[in-house]
Amino acid sequence: MADVIIIGAGPAGLSAAIYVQRAGKQALLLEAMTYGGQIVNTPEVENYPGIPKISGFDFATALYEQATALGAELVFDKAEKIEKKPEDTPESTTEGKPATKAEVLQVTTSGGAVYEAKAVILATGARNRKLMIDREEELTGRGVSYCATCDGAFYKGKPVAVNGGGNTALEDALFLSNYCSRVYLVHRREGFRGEPQALEALRGKENVEFVLNATVTKLTGDSKLTGIQVTDKLTGAVRELEVDGLFIAIGQEPENRAFGNMVTLDKAGYISAGEDCTTGTPGVFTAGDCRTKAVRQLTTAASDGAVAALAACSYIG
Ligand code: NAP
Repeated sequence: MADVIIIGAGPAGLSAAIYVQRAGKQALLLEAMTYGGQIVNTPEVENYPGIPKISGFDFATALYEQATALGAELVFDKAEKIEKKPEDTPESTTEGKPATKAEVLQVTTSGGAVYEAKAVILATGARNRKLMIDREEELTGRGVSYCATCDGAFYKGKPVAVNGGGNTALEDALFLSNYCSRVYLVHRREGFRGEPQALEALRGKENVEFVLNATVTKLTGDSKLTGIQVTDKLTGAVRELEVDGLFIAIGQEPENRAFGNMVTLDKAGYISAGEDCTTGTPGVFTAGDCRTKAVRQLTTAASDGAVAALAACSYIG
């Protein structure tokens, strides 16, 4: 039994673990994949206050080492269910009124373990959104990728395309432009969500071509990707681009359905919670990209981790 179980060891979960440990409580992190969350796929983080430049991997590793050095435990197992532990005997106060004590919550994992704590912080983050076009799954790992940092090196000297208009797409395109022969940045609008600074940097690159108001409509190639078809949304014109790689960076989706019995999910599947990171369910808190919020950044994930951890520690007393 831990004091606080934190589901997800991304920046929000690891920040929460640091705050739980520093509050004198025991944090147990449950992580289905690897620690660090999406940030490990970011080549360079340049907007975390106090750190001018760091790779996403190094940032995640530093967070992990900080949390575990403080005593947080990390178990690689997928949390599948949260339930209230059935109470054996009701406790009474000296005045004879029922005590308002924190109930014990049980977290069951895919590995069959059951962990208990009085508070749980859901920091499940989000996963890569799929384009949902034909052969996307079949060609994933054979030219189609969702992670330029992980797979970019395979495309040295080759032409590639990046799809998306947010910070991830801009950063991926910049990263790839350093060693790919050509980078097509395909985006469905003219305007970008990503930071103007990254956009300016891309505009200065000779090997980057913007393909705007366009969507990827077809993937070509037999056993591996050899090209993509893009369709202009305004004119309907179809263009074939010969590329060896397609990096899909069209945002993320949450994965919170398994916890829908304990928390309210908004229309898009994010956990409904405000800046105080409470969910409305006693003992259940949330932090980071998995909750309804306007700004999903490393800084806001870390901030949520601190808020949720302190709220959880105060709840369990
Ligand atoms: P994002 O900001 O949600 O952008 C997703 C992009 O993909 C948008 O431009 C969107 O187009 C496009 N898109 C969505 N669905 C699409 C579809 N089905 N087909 C084609 N295009 C589609 O996602 P992100 O870039 O992954 O960033 C997620 C969050 O992480 C953001 O808050 C971002 O700022 C943050 N982030 C921060 C850093 C950093 O701080 N260094 C690095 C990476 C990401 P529309 O614009 O038309 O909707």
